[in-house]
Amino acid sequence: MKNLWNDAAAEAIVAQYAAKGIDRELALRVYTTRLLGGEPRLVLHGGGNTSVKLRQTDLVGDEWDVLCVKGSGWDMGVIEPPGLPAVKLAPLLKARRLASLTDEDMVALQRANLLDPTGPNPSVETLLHAFLPQKFVDHTHSTAILSLIDQADSQPICAAAFGRRLGFVPYIKPGFDLAKAAAEVFEQDTSVEGLILDKHGIFTFAETAKDAYDRMIEFVTLAEDFVARTGKSRPAPVALPSGLATARDIAPALRGAVAVAKGEGRYDRMVSDFRTSPAILDFLGNPRLAELARIGVSTPDLSIRIKTGPMVLSTPDAAKLADYPRVIGGAVAEFASAYTDYFRTNDARDDVKRTMLDPMPRLTLVPGLGMFGHGRTLKDARIASDVGEMWIEAVVGAEAIGSFHPLAHADLFELEYWSLEQAKLAVNKPKPLTGQVVLVTGGAGAIGAATAKLFADYGAHAVVVDIDPDRAAEAAKKAGNQSIGVGCDITDPAALRTAFDKAVDVFGGLDILVSNAGNAWEGMIGDLDDALLRKSFELNFFAHQNAAQNAVRIFKAQGTGGVLLFNTSKQAINPGAKFGAYGLPKAATLFLSRQYALEYGPIGVRSNAVNADRIRSGLLTDEMIANRSKARGLSEKDYMSGNLLGLEVTAFDVAQAFLHHALAERTTADVTTVDGGNIAATLR
Ligand SMILES: [Zn+2]
Repeated sequence: MKNLWNDAAAEAIVAQYAAKGIDRELALRVYTTRLLGGEPRLVLHGGGNTSVKLRQTDLVGDEWDVLCVKGSGWDMGVIEPPGLPAVKLAPLLKARRLASLTDEDMVALQRANLLDPTGPNPSVETLLHAFLPQKFVDHTHSTAILSLIDQADSQPICAAAFGRRLGFVPYIKPGFDLAKAAAEVFEQDTSVEGLILDKHGIFTFAETAKDAYDRMIEFVTLAEDFVARTGKSRPAPVALPSGLATARDIAPALRGAVAVAKGEGRYDRMVSDFRTSPAILDFLGNPRLAELARIGVSTPDLSIRIKTGPMVLSTPDAAKLADYPRVIGGAVAEFASAYTDYFRTNDARDDVKRTMLDPMPRLTLVPGLGMFGHGRTLKDARIASDVGEMWIEAVVGAEAIGSFHPLAHADLFELEYWSLEQAKLAVNKPKPLTGQVVLVTGGAGAIGAATAKLFADYGAHAVVVDIDPDRAAEAAKKAGNQSIGVGCDITDPAALRTAFDKAVDVFGGLDILVSNAGNAWEGMIGDLDDALLRKSFELNFFAHQNAAQNAVRIFKAQGTGGVLLFNTSKQAINPGAKFGAYGLPKAATLFLSRQYALEYGPIGVRSNAVNADRIRSGLLTDEMIANRSKARGLSEKDYMSGNLLGLEVTAFDVAQAFLHHALAERTTADVTTVDGGNIAATLR
């Protein structure tokens, strides 16, 4: 592993923080923590931690020996000084005299001794850092190290690779007991430069930030070299069918199968992140893949990301794609049942009351294709994929030098259901649309952009489709929540299909369509050119129908229902003069909404329409508003608020109606009017 220490970069950080009154050693601690945290082969999403022992002054001027240790919730790769809260060292050291200390008391002790009480919770490995005497302590879950220690006979392997330079600590769950055991191992031979924590990771330590970092990189490199030197060749890969299906072919069925059914047609959905590479494909060809997947995770804290390990599917043959959903269903049922057994068996071992987490896989391996990370958000799905890549590397290394033998499921359970680990996940409370994907056409227009933003605020990932790709990307960025923009002419069926493919490629599927794009052409109906009317039908009817067909195709594959929402406008039911070319296809689209409600209700697809009027949007331009208010002898303000409420109706109000339809799980074949109240145009 390349050593990234750079004197100039280190001094630049020291100078940058000196200007903010932060001392040199804390600045260097930040620097090497970032170096470690930026390398996924060392540290993944919240795993690993570092510390430095300093003297700091409190508010009243008293000086204390403190341990600045990584705080919970901080990512090492982008850490800042507040991510290394200072804890008074003396009370931590005093705790070592105790015979035992519960996790809750340990957290309380650490928090009670924070120099700044608003700081984050110090790491659960704080006491281990405190009990070691060196100034700088670094801890990672290095993939190469894991290859050596996820073995039945890990201790002699470590001795062969590192000699006596690293102490060896048998597996103990992080916390007080591990901290004491690690300190005792160190004290037996104080010449060691670090500690191996069996089935878990590695600590290195030194008096300077650079030395502790250098040692980490050196030992990781020794582990890499050991694997390369002593590793046996890989088994021959299994043969693949000649006509492989694609990830896109199977993603919606897989996404639907891992959704958590809550009964009565309600689901907690997840999104999927597909990933592939030569290294992934090479590993997936291992004839013992299914067996390896069942053994466990490479370091225990990965269990909060991918549970007991990945689910494995068989290779999808393009010629037998129709049967594949059954294959997926069988594999998911088997995984869920094994997970439920794992929970019940281990939960029964004591009197602690626990609630089982959902039994769905978070990582799916598909030989020949790649892997899917699953999560309630795209961020979580990508973390699952990141974890999967590092799990693969650790397993490949372990199998090369021996056989993969990580922590047993019983010990893993203790970690997965440990309150301190679950707390890391609890910060992300799901929103009403968390896990759902919405595609909005006309997404860069006033109503479309407001809708994408509102849905994203409620937890959905939005696919913002607009004829202008730049504006689509801009609206997606404004919507946030990792939404994406897609430029396409929705009247071109092939282009429209690519927009839906994009939803499948990026998020694994789709749950809600907001078919919103439209445009109005004026003209007396008796004089109307056929070509103009047909053009209007292409956009204001056929594009809706084609979008709905694409959405329903994905909904059917997922098997978790879905929502179709159409912007039909007031014209669909209450014609305005010279707007026949607009109203006719809109009326057909209103009917279309009901037809979908009728035909696809039995598979849980709801279909609703929004009938909005007088919205400042691309259709109703400022010029039109000026002309119309003038024609009626009204001020623009009076024209725009000419409704029962006497208030202007905005794009946000229309977005709220779409949101209402997305959330109201027993509402279908409905039309919601958004016009501030207009008795003459009321639906009857
Ligand atoms: Zn650790």
